[in-house]
Amino acid sequence: MNRKEKILEILREKKETSVKELSNIFGVSEMTIYRDVRELEQEGYIKRKHGAVLLNDRDESEALMVDTCPICEKPITRAYPYRITVEDAKVIETCCEHCGFLLHSRYEDKKVSAITYDFITENPISALNAWYVVGSSAVPCCSPSVIPFASKEDAEKFSKGFGGQVMSFIDAYNTIVNNMNINLKSCCHPQETVFRIDQLKKKS
Ligand SMILES: [Zn+2]
Ligand SMILES: [Zn+2]
Repeated sequence: MNRKEKILEILREKKETSVKELSNIFGVSEMTIYRDVRELEQEGYIKRKHGAVLLNDRDESEALMVDTCPICEKPITRAYPYRITVEDAKVIETCCEHCGFLLHSRYEDKKVSAITYDFITENPISALNAWYVVGSSAVPCCSPSVIPFASKEDAEKFSKGFGGQVMSFIDAYNTIVNNMNINLKSCCHPQETVFRIDQLKKKS
């Protein structure tokens, strides 16, 4: 777990902290913590108020409430949606991994990174390193469902109970993007690794 993830964990427990307190906890300079906090704020995880650092409660944020999925146009209701960063600049969120993969297909030749969340622990994971259960009977959002796990073992356990196939990122991506029967209207919500899908395809 990196420092930013640990900061989020501290906030989930304590609700409120400060840059000074975090710098004591981690034994690093306030400037280092400030940089983490700025990034977390830009990524939409936290907010700052009168010197305090707080979790960004998305339910209370009207601006974020009206966000809709760029693929299926469904309102994004998940607290931590699938998030793609294109060329280190543009950040786009989708309702779920299914739509996230369809969005990736628009940026196959671009450097991207993506964050998803383990279905059980809700810990952030790099989408590239996650394992996915595709097409299980559990359909939290869009169908066929794509459910992410940090460990292959957890994904396999899940698929024993709910069906579907355990796949790596690129296999799950190819399955969703090449599935021509997808009805978009039936669509109903770390360590970042930079990757390019066209290059992954060549390797696989
Ligand atoms: Zn969607
Ligand atoms: Zn969806």
